Amino acid sequence: MDLKESILELIRRASTDLSPDVVEAITEAHENEEKGTPAKGVFDTILKNVDMARKQSTPICQDTGSLIFYVDIPEKSSEFEIKDAIREAAIEATEKQYLRPNAVDPVTSKNSGNNIGENAPYIHFHQWKNDEIRIRVMLKGGGSENVGAQYKLPFPKLKAGRDLKGVRKVLIDAIINAQGLGCAPGTLGIGIGGDRITSYMLSKEQFFRKIGSKNENKELAELEASLKDELNELGIGPMGFGGKTTVLDVFIGSQARHPATFFVSLSYMCWAFRRKSMIISKEGVKYD
Ligand code: SF4
Repeated sequence: MDLKESILELIRRASTDLSPDVVEAITEAHENEEKGTPAKGVFDTILKNVDMARKQSTPICQDTGSLIFYVDIPEKSSEFEIKDAIREAAIEATEKQYLRPNAVDPVTSKNSGNNIGENAPYIHFHQWKNDEIRIRVMLKGGGSENVGAQYKLPFPKLKAGRDLKGVRKVLIDAIINAQGLGCAPGTLGIGIGGDRITSYMLSKEQFFRKIGSKNENKELAELEASLKDELNELGIGPMGFGGKTTVLDVFIGSQARHPATFFVSLSYMCWAFRRKSMIISKEGVKYD
């Protein structure tokens, strides 16, 4: 098994082929809109685009996003080897035009031209007890990333207290602020608790959940379902053209917080919801 080649294929799949759960959710949203409405037209275009990208192996969107990797490794695996393979794969994926060059030095404003830079691609390593290596990648578009937001409860402006009711209030505020931005319909990844950094990290990892999956925590499952309904009643619709679907799903993760803090972090994923994973085991490589 050639690790770099396997990761290159993972990136190709992420950039050119939306996962079945996402396509299914967009198809359902398309079916729900009335004929002749702008929303129906937008979903038509999105679905045609998704189909063409898959058949031609070309990027789903011109912004192929930032590369964010999550790597789970057994005890004796080398982070260095995997990191090198990821960087080599990113360079080749850029040459093959699966990726647009998206790594810019903030000091010089120079684009490296190959998606490699200081801390780019972003890689999160995590050791686990399994024998396999799991590599997950997310391509996070800049427009959708700009829509992310973090709130600190209590948030007096919205009368949002330190409880799940407060969480609901700030999240509705965030989506109202995001209208017309970030290429709706979006999927919301939310992290509650933690410090400022881990709260955002938790919010982003939610995107590896499948659309339609239920939260194991009953209270959070209820909040996810009711928020999804409430946000879809806002009528913002795909690309802000109005319509019945503003969000495809809402995923909430929670973690312990300091007694004096209550952070609510929102990561927003656009309709081009690109994430894929692969497992490397003795049997070979399996993609999802
Ligand atoms: S927000 Fe998403 S769909 Fe919109 S341009 Fe960026 S990557 Fe593409």
